[in-house]
Amino acid sequence: MKKRPVSRGVPPGGPAALDKVIDLVEARTAQRRSTLAIFDLDGTLFDNRTRTMFILREISEKFDARLPQLSRAFSSFRDLSEVDYSLDVTLRRLKVVSPVETKFIKQEWSRRFFSDEYQKYDMPLAGAKSYVEKIHAAGATVIYLTGRDVGRMLVGMTEVLRLYGFPVGVAGTMTIVKKEFEQDDEIFKKEVSEYIDRLGEVVAVFENEPANSNILQARFPGAASFFVETQHRPGAPKLNPGIVRIKDFRLPALRPGKRP
Ligand SMILES: [Mg+2]
Repeated sequence: MKKRPVSRGVPPGGPAALDKVIDLVEARTAQRRSTLAIFDLDGTLFDNRTRTMFILREISEKFDARLPQLSRAFSSFRDLSEVDYSLDVTLRRLKVVSPVETKFIKQEWSRRFFSDEYQKYDMPLAGAKSYVEKIHAAGATVIYLTGRDVGRMLVGMTEVLRLYGFPVGVAGTMTIVKKEFEQDDEIFKKEVSEYIDRLGEVVAVFENEPANSNILQARFPGAASFFVETQHRPGAPKLNPGIVRIKDFRLPALRPGKRP
């Protein structure tokens, strides 16, 4: 394998570390060795705040007479920074405080948010598709490991990955979702990681939940562990040392001689 050029002008941390993973995968592939890269979806490859806003807009139009506070909220809505991890917080920010409205909205939101039909309103993080494509082309098996469930969300999820051009369904990819919606996310990921460990060398793990990031880093200490700074559950534990923080998946600017 050719030596990496001196990383002049490349900032340390996230983007350079992302790039290094691809080099490692290429080296292992050249040795005919199997590598695995684990990607979470919600808050990692995809920003799902757009899904929530689309759903709230749809509900407000459909049920406008019953939801005056939500209908009014859109006249002052500015941007996605108003959308919190918690729907309760988002609604309070939008000045929807009526308990009757809130209860109804939550019920309608939940039916839509956790379904096949609405995942297409998610937005991939900058560089996400291109990065997954590169790591796949370098020879790694891409594992989408998500707390979405098989009964309500697998079809929509596959559709969206295909829609945006992520490798899915082809050789070198794997999709692992929950069997039951009610399963606890952390226990699910912990159990599945035992299985993944038998498949080959995990070289990189990508997560946006500190708890999951810590679990997976402990399970795969040899892998590069990335924490995507988007949104996560409130009251999350502190991130363990050695986990690299990234804002998105954009690589450092290309230098002469590097792959396109
Ligand atoms: Mg997530």
